[in-house]
Amino acid sequence: MSDQTKIQFASSISTTEQNKKRIAIFGSTGSIGVQALNVIAGNLDKFSVEILTAHSNDELLIQQGLHLCPNIVVIADESKYLKVKEALATTDTKVFAGEKALEEVAAMDCYDLMLAAIVGYAGLKPTLKAISNGKTIALANKETLVVAGDIVMRNALEKRVPVIPVDTEHSAIFQCLVGEARNRIEKIILTASGGPFLGRKTNYLVNVKREHALQHPNWTMGAKITIDSATLMNKGLEMIEAKWLFNLSPQQIQVVIHPQSIIHSMVQFEDGSIKAQMGLPDMKLPIQYALAFPKRIKNDFPRYDFKKVNTLNFEEPDMKTFRNLVLAIESLNKGGNLPCIMNAANEIAVYAFLRNRIGFLEMTDVIEKTMQKVTFITKPTLDEYFESDGEARTYAADMIRL
Ligand code: NAD
Ligand code: MG
Repeated sequence: MSDQTKIQFASSISTTEQNKKRIAIFGSTGSIGVQALNVIAGNLDKFSVEILTAHSNDELLIQQGLHLCPNIVVIADESKYLKVKEALATTDTKVFAGEKALEEVAAMDCYDLMLAAIVGYAGLKPTLKAISNGKTIALANKETLVVAGDIVMRNALEKRVPVIPVDTEHSAIFQCLVGEARNRIEKIILTASGGPFLGRKTNYLVNVKREHALQHPNWTMGAKITIDSATLMNKGLEMIEAKWLFNLSPQQIQVVIHPQSIIHSMVQFEDGSIKAQMGLPDMKLPIQYALAFPKRIKNDFPRYDFKKVNTLNFEEPDMKTFRNLVLAIESLNKGGNLPCIMNAANEIAVYAFLRNRIGFLEMTDVIEKTMQKVTFITKPTLDEYFESDGEARTYAADMIRL
């Protein structure tokens, strides 16, 4: 890394007491949100918590509000407003409710960095608002880029807003790219654990139930991403996320199954050299990296010990069995509104599976049929993305009779 780059990077660090990075956590009650608050709790000299938002977990939002005294909390579920408002009445925290409030608060000036940790399509609009207001984004919500990656990244470029990945694989790639600004990427290699059903075939998957699919071998995460990991849809979403984050063609993105989740992903450069980023599977690390970027913060998270686990395996994903990955690659290749349609159908399918309404393999049917049915648009506007999302949700839900 050149001295000039070091200076550029250093210029964006805030370290003094009065100059803490002011953080807004959208989705503070989720798996990423709670881990982010852990990271911040260990670094109160560097960060302050300004905004916390939740969908319906009022209890946890209240607890977080009382503990951290943020400037603002938002509860998206309006029926919970009074309870949250009353519980925080003795504090200086302002309480808002409703979906619109998420966008309004995202547009406020009281914070520097948004941790986008809402799950699914719901994260898109607040993130877009934050970008148009020049806020740095630490992006966990991959669906934002799957749905409207072209518009999100174009807006970010226009506003000169950094979008720093939180997703482990993308954080790994981002870390591998530090100091490589002048060098072209030949390809990236996204690693995937394979999920709880690695090695299983269709005849086994047909009987898989919710509880089983929720048992991920390496990571504890929210329910939706855990199911996406079991179907390999998560890796498909991540391929699309990588395309937009790193400006890649679909041919430059390869997926490799790596069951130990120690290598978090790799970049291969034009000379054939491959850089990997490694560590124990612990989301706190990429969260901390994104919050503190470009600085690394000393911590006491457990370390990977090469003397203990001594085998790292790699294999091809089984695309015959895990067909969601095939559908995701199709939507990556075709582009337009197809990833948006696929994402919407997937959200409905996962929701239905989690409520025992459809089987594990039926999720793929719902997604595939929806992708065939909803009108394809090559270059959608933002409104057309919103409409495609709505159309796909209705079609998928009707199919399941939700
Ligand atoms: P989660 O389900 O644990 O939490 C989701 C959060 O979003 C909660 O705070 C919830 O209140 C909020 N939320 C849900 N629906 C909402 C809505 N309609 N309106 C407003 N808020 C809403 O999810 P998670 O596992 O923390 O994942 C969050 C995002 O990060 C996802 O996009 C996921 O793909 C991504 N991600 C998660 C992990 C992980 O380890 N959990 C890793 C990589 C990426
Ligand atoms: Mg990931």
